[in-house]
Amino acid sequence: MVRKQHQPYLPSLQPDPPETSERRVAAVATITPTDKIYSYAVPSELADLLGAGQRVEVPLGRQNRPTLGFCVGLSTEPWTSTLKPILRVVDDAPLLDASLIELARWISRYYCCPPGRAMAAMVPEPVRSKSGWRKIRRVRAAKPLAEIESEARRLGPKQRRLIEHLVAANEPVDANVLQNDIGCGCATIKTAAQRGWVVVETAHEPVCGPNFDRPIADPDFELTPDQRHAVEESRRAVDEERFQVLVLFGVAGSGKTEVYVRAIRDVVARGRQAIMLVPEIALTTQLVDRLARRFSNLAVIHSGLTGVQRSLVWSDIASGRKRVIIGTRSAVFAPAPDLGLIVVDEEQDGSYENLQSPRFHSRDVAIVRASQASIPVLLGSATPSLETWHNARRMSHYKVLSLPRRVAGLPMPRVHVVPMQAERHSRRGFHVLSQPMEYQLRETLAQGEQAVLLMNRRGYSSTIFCPRCGWMAVCPHCDVHLVFHQISGILRCHRCSHREKAPETCPDTSCGGTPLRFGEGTQRVEEELLRKFPEARVARADSDTMLRGEQYEELIRRFESGELNVLVGTQMIAKGLDFPLVSFVGVINADTTMMVSDFRASERTFQLITQVAGRAGRARGQGIVIVQTDTPDLPPIRLAVKHDYEAFATQELELRAKLKLPPVYRLTRIVLSDPNDSKVQTEAKKLAEAVREAAEAMGAKLACNGPERCPVQRERQHYRWELLLRAQSAEDMQRVLDRIRGKTLQGVRAKRLVVDVDPISLM
Ligand code: ADP
Ligand code: ZN
Ligand code: ZN
Repeated sequence: MVRKQHQPYLPSLQPDPPETSERRVAAVATITPTDKIYSYAVPSELADLLGAGQRVEVPLGRQNRPTLGFCVGLSTEPWTSTLKPILRVVDDAPLLDASLIELARWISRYYCCPPGRAMAAMVPEPVRSKSGWRKIRRVRAAKPLAEIESEARRLGPKQRRLIEHLVAANEPVDANVLQNDIGCGCATIKTAAQRGWVVVETAHEPVCGPNFDRPIADPDFELTPDQRHAVEESRRAVDEERFQVLVLFGVAGSGKTEVYVRAIRDVVARGRQAIMLVPEIALTTQLVDRLARRFSNLAVIHSGLTGVQRSLVWSDIASGRKRVIIGTRSAVFAPAPDLGLIVVDEEQDGSYENLQSPRFHSRDVAIVRASQASIPVLLGSATPSLETWHNARRMSHYKVLSLPRRVAGLPMPRVHVVPMQAERHSRRGFHVLSQPMEYQLRETLAQGEQAVLLMNRRGYSSTIFCPRCGWMAVCPHCDVHLVFHQISGILRCHRCSHREKAPETCPDTSCGGTPLRFGEGTQRVEEELLRKFPEARVARADSDTMLRGEQYEELIRRFESGELNVLVGTQMIAKGLDFPLVSFVGVINADTTMMVSDFRASERTFQLITQVAGRAGRARGQGIVIVQTDTPDLPPIRLAVKHDYEAFATQELELRAKLKLPPVYRLTRIVLSDPNDSKVQTEAKKLAEAVREAAEAMGAKLACNGPERCPVQRERQHYRWELLLRAQSAEDMQRVLDRIRGKTLQGVRAKRLVVDVDPISLM
């Protein structure tokens, strides 16, 4: 939809209409906070240079401020004098093709962000600036030497040298080479060109790009019937050019990766391209290395690439030289022209959520891209997100493909639960490592095997606990953990309005411990471990100690080589690890509560236990997992121990429906922040009113809660207030957002306004 540029009453500064009554008009999405797409006249001298997907500079607003924008379409329209002309064409080739422009428009609408911003976010900065490309000028003779000699009565010695050289070369010569070899500078070449003796051609050429190709090394096993079936389903959808969401549901070690590899190869054999998204993990390299051996013409996109590498990989994909693209979150925007399949590995992973503006979820963007391209998308997981599971049960274009068994007959690990309440009241006093945990560790180390100990932070990293007795701050009314607000030193319940001052010593007077924030946990585990096992060689990895990816990789390398034998860490070590020597995994604290601010806590806990259980004993023998918890009877623990995802998903979905939470309901969170607390509160109130009015006017089933203070109430001197929009369907949510975006949202007088559609967390 192309909207006309406003300002129809400006006196015309345009020249008289030309003979023809039609002209070229470009639709431009400017990279500014506006939803409008403006029309601009294309001056005839720019007409040949401009196509959809290129950036242009256009005059914007009353001051005609030169502004960047994406050309999203061209048309021929009747001549109108009110259109301003495009000032400049920025790119010499499109940054986005038609399908990516369409995808940007979906992102813009669904995630409620300006279209120009969505487009800018899809193209990495180094690609925009053509990093890694150099400009080359080549010179060739325009006519035979004799002809030139007859034209020029007296040919200067430099000119003669130049032309003789070019005639002899009989092909275009790099201007730099001419300078070096025969000392012909720019001036000489320019003069010759002006006289029509030589022609100068400029071209952009890449400096040498990265090459990920390794010799292909294929394993020699046959696919299991389940794997074969999955690959066939994918192939069929590709051949029939049919959009389909294939949910590859298989426990760790069931051979999902092998299915991805074969499905992708099928697509490549059909002359098409495939994108595989992997989670953003410190260990992306380990996984990618394994995959790289299976493909030729592979492009890898991850956060470690330099700007030049990123830019060159992008153009290799666009030109079709690279057929397989593996990458994290942003690889979903890879400019593959012949896309045949998208794979999303570990589709439940939180790192697919883009936390910067524009906020989007890569898995969901992948699904939409597949639907627009009429191709299948393969979502793989041992514990599918409840969003995916919910959709799979209701929507006809979803299909679940199960891989219920580990390949090679490996048994599932044995999982034991240790209720920590009882441990604490034992005469031994409180230990982070329970007796069964200690016993298993001792066994493991005695066997010369390795152990992983995991501290769960998610869900209550923001509360405090007593390391001595295990006391945790809990609301007396709601049974949820209180959230610790560091600035005020207050503990608050986000269900009711309960608040209390955070105690400086443990409320249990007989204990006398000092409460800690949860993040301080891994250090304590390490201390106790070293006290009990002085011979253990411990590696500790959490996001506090591992600021740099290389440090982490170094640590993992030392663990992998056996130099270290116990790995202690937070969630970050649960993903993507594949260590044959790890036979024991201990989860220090697998507690979970239904916290409103993290309604996914149960789901995350289930995923975590399942994930780490998959780490134990991958290569040989039966692994052992010990899960310490205060809540042994809660479903995520009970059912994870039994490896029963389906029962968990069913129960949890019922609970979400009851509490009106996603995926059964749709949420959008709007956060307003400003240094002036009362002003931002007033603005939030007004916005809430406007939302309610919009919903009512449209007959949308949508409720708006709030305004309320955000769990993190102040951030960098800005007070934060939030509204929570809750709708029964995505359509209702979309209609209300369509209505309030533009005028209503732009009219909010707050320093910052963030619209988070389908929020992952409500902190
Ligand atoms: P997942 O991705 O589900 O965790 P993988 O694809 O990594 O599982 O497979 C686990 C291991 O089993 C790998 O070492 C893989 O090479 C091997 N494997 C996969 N498929 C088969 C098969 N059909 N027969 C034998 N081994 C297989
Ligand atoms: Zn205590
Ligand atoms: Zn409460």
